[in-house]
Amino acid sequence: MQDFVYHRASSLDEARRLGAEEGAAFLAGGQTLLRDLKHNRRTPTSLVKISGVLPREIDLRDGGITIGAGATHAEVAVSEVVRERLPALAGLAEHLGDPAVRHRATLGGAVVANEVAGDYPAACLALGATVHTTGRDLAAAEFFAGPGRTALEPGEIVTAVTFPVPAKAAYVKFLNPAARYAMAGVFVALAADGRPRLAVTAARADGAFRWREAEAALAATFVADALRDLRLPLKGLAEDLFADAAYRGRLAEVLARRVVALASGPAPGVAVFSHGSPLRSG
Ligand SMILES: Cc1cc2nc3c(=O)[nH]c(=O)nc-3n(C[C@H](O)[C@H](O)[C@H](O)COP(=O)(O)OP(=O)(O)OC[C@H]3O[C@@H](n4cnc5c(N)ncnc54)[C@H](O)[C@@H]3O)c2cc1C
Repeated sequence: MQDFVYHRASSLDEARRLGAEEGAAFLAGGQTLLRDLKHNRRTPTSLVKISGVLPREIDLRDGGITIGAGATHAEVAVSEVVRERLPALAGLAEHLGDPAVRHRATLGGAVVANEVAGDYPAACLALGATVHTTGRDLAAAEFFAGPGRTALEPGEIVTAVTFPVPAKAAYVKFLNPAARYAMAGVFVALAADGRPRLAVTAARADGAFRWREAEAALAATFVADALRDLRLPLKGLAEDLFADAAYRGRLAEVLARRVVALASGPAPGVAVFSHGSPLRSG
């Protein structure tokens, strides 16, 4: 690991100034960044700790839930407002990683890290979330810019994310039993205006994406069977030690049908599978 200078920001303004300096990186929960430093995938010359100055409140206003970027996954998972109004998101946070990760990692870090198998990018795309930064508000589709990349400028900090409360939503993922990240995950939401959005994570090498053909089929009728004949194109699907492209594509197609069934059922939320058997739901 390369040497770096460590700053503990005492305000968002100070963090912005320090973070705009060449070679600087923001440090929130450190669950992605510290791993990248250890593997020399990132070599910043200074780290600016921002977790103490980020908002972490969770509020319901104007039909949306706004979550401060400093909220940990554990805080999102137990938030009463998220559990009541958007149980799929509470469940996503509850089933992300392990307890140590959930108690340190933040919402802001998860969206900025934009990992290929990240859970939050799919939720943001499917729910039509807005990412608020120190300078602007960005629709999720504009914010995410490929694996590990976002539209953020140097020194720009994510302060919160607003998730519109949908009429229905659910998330289903199939875990990689070794890494415990998703091998594929699908988030579906039926917006308050009746528009369906379905986003897939971990299946394509370029990160989470909206599956437009599935959305068109669901717009006609929001039932799992509407997706029965749809196939994801093989091109662009991720391949690794654990699964080839055909397997991942098939998995995502099956999960898409399951997530629509879950969202349409009496207790929409989250289901997590591994090797075909339900591990957890809630
Ligand atoms: C063992 C393990 C298992 C995991 N499992 C999962 C999983 O199943 N699903 C999943 O989605 N994720 C998983 N994660 C990833 C975890 O969710 C992310 O690492 C985490 O959310 C990143 O948040 P952080 O606060 O730790 O960010 P950090 O690691 O501190 O930062 C990540 C990146 O974001 C930048 N950054 C952080 N906050 C801000 C901000 N507010 N504004 C601007 N830039 C910022 C940092 O500079 C850095 O580039 C796992 C991680 C580990 C270690």
